[in-house]
Order: sequence, then structure tokens, then C-alpha cells
Amino acid sequence: MTDRYAVFGNPIGHSRSPRIHTAFAEQTGEAISYSAIEAPVTDFAVAWRAFAEAGGRGANVTVPFKQAAFALAQVLSPRAQLAGAVNTLSLGNDGLLHGDTTDGVGLVRDLQAHAAPLAGARVLLLGAGGASRGVIEPLLEAGIASLTVANRTVSRAEELASRFAARGEVSGCGFEDVAGPFDLVINATSASLVGDLPPLPGEIFAAQGLAYDMMYAAEPTVFLRWAAEQGARSVDGLGMLIEQAAESFWLWRQVRPDTAPLRELLRREL
Ligand code: NDP
Repeated sequence: MTDRYAVFGNPIGHSRSPRIHTAFAEQTGEAISYSAIEAPVTDFAVAWRAFAEAGGRGANVTVPFKQAAFALAQVLSPRAQLAGAVNTLSLGNDGLLHGDTTDGVGLVRDLQAHAAPLAGARVLLLGAGGASRGVIEPLLEAGIASLTVANRTVSRAEELASRFAARGEVSGCGFEDVAGPFDLVINATSASLVGDLPPLPGEIFAAQGLAYDMMYAAEPTVFLRWAAEQGARSVDGLGMLIEQAAESFWLWRQVRPDTAPLRELLRREL
């Protein structure tokens, strides 16, 4: 009996999630199917219910439905509650719809895979959108020393930082007010999608600093090129995508796929 899973988004044609989960299933021998569903922007709940009634067991949720999935879930994991967003839905044995978010775990696992400085690190997080919200708690748990959230709309950075202020040294500001040096700079804006570079002051990397762009592409993004010019090591977000998928697979199947072969395969396919 094949269990059905899917990724919901709009648009969804570009999604690599079906490729990744199908490869995980082949690797682990789990009997699942995984498809991409483009739900109407205003009707995520209707689309999910239709899928569940047709035998769907769980789903990944991407832009613009992470908040709608959060609202729909009947049981939320602590990390989903902190993030205010859900990227993984699962029908539990209790018959309830469980919501979790795996983006943050995915980022931290990928950073660890690249031997990124985390314990005691001074970290700059660019952006205050959905992706940023999901990664702050896992970064703090990984033992970073301080986190600066910088955003184009400064009030969003300040508001987001204030939500985590009790949990560590977390502050918010605008791009121009960023004061380094930082051991790790993570670009969680969508600026790279349109070839933009957040207007940061000149030298912000510490020696051995690492630049991470959540976006991935065949060529380095403008942010990663800028960072390389400053002598920073640079990593894109392909590994994060694969690691967050592996964590979702684990939530659904209690089986951990080996992500290394997928890293090589998807890199070749970019
Ligand atoms: P959101 O739309 O929720 O947030 C976008 C953020 O980018 C906001 O902070 C926004 O600032 C900022 N921004 C947008 N355009 C610009 C610009 N031209 N210059 C500076 N800042 C800008 O998006 P998400 O948080 O969901 O996603 C952000 C990025 O992360 C995307 O590129 C996405 O593809 C990537 N991502 C990658 C994942 C992976 O697995 N690799 C997982 C999740 C996301 P403002 O508040 O001022 O509007």
C-alpha cells in the first residue's frame, strides 16, 4: 500500500521536493508517492482536505501557505509555535493534523555539514520574513553567542528580534546600521531572486567568516559573490532544502535518509 504525500505551493512548478522525496523513498524502500499541488492562493484548507480525503498522509507547504498551514494544524510542535509557521503537515495516529517546521533544522544541519562556526558565533541574519522566523530558535539552540536581525523594513527586524530577546542576545536593525564583525552572515531575504544585494556597510566578516545564502542557483548569487570579494567562505541553500526535506521524511516515516547522494545529484542538476 503506497502512502501519499505532496508539496503545496503557488506557484509550484519549480519545486524540487518531488524529486528529493522520490529519491529518499527509493533509497530507503519506503512505499510512498509524492506530488506537487498548486493550490488556489485563497483556498489552501480546501485543497488540503481534498488531498487528505483522497488518502493523503502528509504534506510539505511552501510559499504562500506556511501561515495557512499553521492555522489549519490541530497540534503544533514547539518549534512551529515559535516560528509562527508550518512547512510540514502530518496526519497522526491520533487522527489529528500535526504541524511542524523543519526549515531551521535544515539550515543548522547544512551549516554543520559545512563546518560553519556556530558555538559562540556572532551571527547576522538578513531578512525578517518567513524563512528568518523559522531559523532563529534552532540557531540559538546551536549555541551562537549573538544574533543581529537586519531587514529592509526595519520595524519588522525589530519586532522579530524582540520575540526572541528573552532567549539570548538578539537585536534588530536596518542594513545600514549593521556593525560587524560577524562569524556567520545568513541571507534570508529574497533579494538574490531579483539580483539585488542588501545595502550593507563594507567589511563585516570576521576572519574565517562564512556567508550563507538560502537561495541556490547554478551560479553564485550576487550576495555570495560580494562575500567572496571580502574573503568569506560561501555556501548556498541547496543543502538546507535537502536537509529540511530529510527532516520532514523522518517525521512522516521515522526513517532517516542519507542526504549525501542527493547533495551531489541535485548540484549536478542545477
Ligand atoms: P518572505 O517573502 O517571507 O520574506 C522576504 C524577505 O526578503 C523580507 O525580509 C523582505 O524585506 C526581504 N526582501 C525582499 N526583497 C528585497 C530586496 N530587494 N532587498 C532587500 N530585502 C528584500 O520570503 P521567505 O522568508 O519565505 O524566503 C526568503 C528567501 O529564502 C527566498 O529566497 C527563499 O527562496 C529562500 N528560502 C530557502 C529555503 C531553502 O530550503 N533553501 C527555505 C525557505 C526559504 P521586507 O520585510 O522589507 O519586505
